[in-house]
Amino acid sequence: MPHKIAVLAGDGIGPEVIAEAVKVLKATGADFSFEEALIGGTAYDKTGHPLPQKTLDLCKESDAVLLGAVGGPAWDHLETKLRPEVGALLPLRAELQLFANVRPAKTLPALLLASPLKGERGLVDLVVVRELTGGIYFGKPRERRENGTVAVDTCIYSKSEIERIAQRAYEIARHRRHNLVSVDKANVLETSRLWREVVTDIAEQNHDVSTSHMLVDNCAMQLIRDPQQFDVILTENMFGDILSDEASMITGSLGLLPSASLSHHKDGKSFGLYEPVHGSAPDIAGQQRANPIAAILSAAMMLKYTFGENDVAFRIDQAVDAVLEHGLRTADIFEKGTRLASTAEMGDAIAGKLAE
Ligand code: NAD
Repeated sequence: MPHKIAVLAGDGIGPEVIAEAVKVLKATGADFSFEEALIGGTAYDKTGHPLPQKTLDLCKESDAVLLGAVGGPAWDHLETKLRPEVGALLPLRAELQLFANVRPAKTLPALLLASPLKGERGLVDLVVVRELTGGIYFGKPRERRENGTVAVDTCIYSKSEIERIAQRAYEIARHRRHNLVSVDKANVLETSRLWREVVTDIAEQNHDVSTSHMLVDNCAMQLIRDPQQFDVILTENMFGDILSDEASMITGSLGLLPSASLSHHKDGKSFGLYEPVHGSAPDIAGQQRANPIAAILSAAMMLKYTFGENDVAFRIDQAVDAVLEHGLRTADIFEKGTRLASTAEMGDAIAGKLAE
């Protein structure tokens, strides 16, 4: 049976970068079937809703979802629930129970100069595993009191929510350098104290991975001071939101950052949605100027996390490195002495390397 992939290209540069990711997946020679569906503003224009039922059904029938990006000024005037980001992405994540957000931050050696950190310090290779469906972003009540002068957000975590994300983080650490740092604010927050208790218990079942705990404020500092100390950072929703952005910026460019959002294991496979971290970049959409590498590396993550095709994923990573080493660059990472490529030319070069 071929691996079944739902392809949701979306808006803006989404279709341009996803076309290159699909091109690269095809060039691996692995057995995939691709089915496209509408999402985002494009879906709203054609069907009246940013997440049509047909799209949701396709995602649920597939082994994995490859998503471009959604949103743009053309849909900013819509009421909140119909706006692509709110009306499509949030329900998609909830419906597919994507509780584990995995954001690698890996400096590509050819682009070390793009890192805001000086010299070798910018050479990071870490993954933030962020809990995605609990915590303060989802807790109720969320309200205003006393004539709007007092605001309340509620942070709630259950033991089972912490257990499942911790187990997933250990699985990931086991395939990397066996080092996990759990980040919390246990000196202040009750949810963090529960987080630390549960992670400590799960660590007992995972002796092959070394575990330590770090307070979130210290982690924010350590990421700048000495990011190479980190392999896997496990953390809750809001801390992960902030730390994953901080970590990813060490690598220097938005156009290079992939992500995965994973659900439960099913039939030995881990269902997941894979998407570049960047948005729909309306300022460069339709001009073949977008960098497709974030989308291509997201496809490589799909091979690794959903299909267990680690060797093929590694070959894609290597093909990306090789093409950059040869000096090919899209406009966002262009520098003197390198060669400018369009979105499709970059995809062709990476697919070509794989086929060699
Ligand atoms: P953005 O990530 O789309 O763009 C920020 C800047 O980075 C722009 O200058 C853009 O040209 C550049 N950029 C982004 N991706 C690039 C790539 N692959 N290659 C080269 N340059 C790239 O963020 P934004 O401008 O804040 O948002 C634009 C739209 O995207 C908004 O409607 C926003 O809501 C939406 N958005 C969607 C997602 C998503 O679908 N997951 C994520 C973030 C933003």
